[in-house]
Amino acid sequence: MSPSDCLFCRIARGEIPADLVHEGERLIAFRDISPQAPFHVLVIPREHIQSLGDAEVGHGALLGEALLLAAEIAAREGVAEEGYRTVVNTGKDGGQTVHHLHVHILGGRSLGWPPG
Ligand code: AMP
Ligand code: ZN
Repeated sequence: MSPSDCLFCRIARGEIPADLVHEGERLIAFRDISPQAPFHVLVIPREHIQSLGDAEVGHGALLGEALLLAAEIAAREGVAEEGYRTVVNTGKDGGQTVHHLHVHILGGRSLGWPPG
């Protein structure tokens, strides 16, 4: 999947609408179109990285920023006090369906463990 026809690259470029909760230079965040919890937001890098497995050492700061942004958004949106979960699905068995690295933030209800 090239960046030209990647769904999340297209959202990052503003070609496809999304319910954005953050627009930064390197990262954006938007509400998941099919929420699995009362609060479900995705944090993505603007750069097209297919999956966590494709991230390189040079992406370390960007990945750290994505996690810190997730925490900031969770706090701002009022789910941090009760708690939330950050998830990076990777590959087929990990349940990854969009091949552009993204961090799910899920909250607003008690989440089961282990995940299905
Ligand atoms: P994953 O299964 O981990 O690859 O997660 C992909 C997520 O993207 C799923 O939770 C989808 O509901 C979500 N998604 C797919 N298309 C859109 C879209 N156009 N806007 C917002 N979220 C989307
Ligand atoms: Zn992409």
